[in-house]
Amino acid sequence: MSDLSKIESELRERSSGQCELCTANPGASVLQVEPVAKVDADHSIWICETCGPTIEGGELNGQDWFCLQDSIWSEVPAIQVVTWRMLHRLGSDSWAQDLIEQCYMEDDQLEWAKAGLLATSDDPGSTTAITKDSNGSELLEGDSVTLIKALDVKGGGFTAKRGTMVKGIRLTDDPENVEGRVNGMVLVLKTCFLKKA
Ligand SMILES: [Zn+2]
Repeated sequence: MSDLSKIESELRERSSGQCELCTANPGASVLQVEPVAKVDADHSIWICETCGPTIEGGELNGQDWFCLQDSIWSEVPAIQVVTWRMLHRLGSDSWAQDLIEQCYMEDDQLEWAKAGLLATSDDPGSTTAITKDSNGSELLEGDSVTLIKALDVKGGGFTAKRGTMVKGIRLTDDPENVEGRVNGMVLVLKTCFLKKA
């Protein structure tokens, strides 16, 4: 028996076959609750075809999530962790906020829950990637930056000196590049060579 089918049979037993989040639909697949310390049933939940895509980052609309009021009190840490993250995504609803405050989780469990939240917000599918300068400060459209390294502008016939100020940068689709005007030329600048002014 492979590890995964062993996990699956453990989960089927734990859940009595029902989705462990909504408990309304029969479960359909194993969801590993990332980041997983260990691939086992304790770090996985058994979920239905409706909850699955939503947990993975799909739209929250079209389903009521009051089931979370029950699943947050689950004795299974992985179910609590997934519920907690869903509540955070529902954040603006006051009942979700209340549950987040009421629920109790061990410190390491809370760490686990939070780690997953970060993973979701870094997902380029759900939010646009943040453009950062060489110090990790966020760069925004229209910011001014200075070059921390001399830049040889091929085709421009000049070298932009270290410390050159570039005003009014434009962000690009690539978080590692911005556009800025140097000596009247629009250049693509690598953010690792820039410092927010
Ligand atoms: Zn479900």
